[in-house]
Amino acid sequence: MRVLLVEDDRMIGESIRAALKQDGSAVDWVRDGRSAESTLATEQFDLVLLDLGLPQRDGLEILRAMRLRHDQTPVIVLTARDALQDRVAGLDAGADDYLVKPFELEELAARIRAVTRRKAGRAEPAIEVGDVRLDPSMRQVTRGGEPVVLSAREYAVLEALMSRPGAILSRAQLEDRLYGWGDAIESNAVSVYVHQLRRKLGSDFIRNVRGVGYYVGRPEVSR
Ligand code: CA
Repeated sequence: MRVLLVEDDRMIGESIRAALKQDGSAVDWVRDGRSAESTLATEQFDLVLLDLGLPQRDGLEILRAMRLRHDQTPVIVLTARDALQDRVAGLDAGADDYLVKPFELEELAARIRAVTRRKAGRAEPAIEVGDVRLDPSMRQVTRGGEPVVLSAREYAVLEALMSRPGAILSRAQLEDRLYGWGDAIESNAVSVYVHQLRRKLGSDFIRNVRGVGYYVGRPEVSR
């Protein structure tokens, strides 16, 4: 999952980024309102974690602007202000959820899972493709009912593919899920993770369309 973290507090930002990266997410971190706006205007994310009190541009303004231009990216507001009216304002401006600082990283992770699940419109939290089942809330994968142990990055690649069965994801799209801006992209990393996933889930579970990308399940009919 690719996450934009908008947070001007260095310590809070560092700890959130470390926790998300450990979970296999790619995290891009900006520290002021203007950078957040320019980044959101040019890049796609699966989730935005948005601090409200920011230099240059208030978080609420950023959020309202996103929703005005019909950007439906899930947003969780992070607020230090424990006032009811701030939380209400955040939700009214189009936030999907909010967390009041200080919060436990475990709670943040749970809110993220809930928000992304709701956005994907899945009533059932688990995703099944063939005999492979992925449970995002537990970060568990089973094949034919047997648990499969995956590294954080293998899981990230598999989750991206299984979230959209039949859709072909390009190597670049999968790399986006694996790396934030600060990370050097290892050449062939996606091929390596796909190779490892095939070894664990069956050689034909992840299919390759040469020069286009990878998919699981039945291919979408092109329109
Ligand atoms: Ca702040």
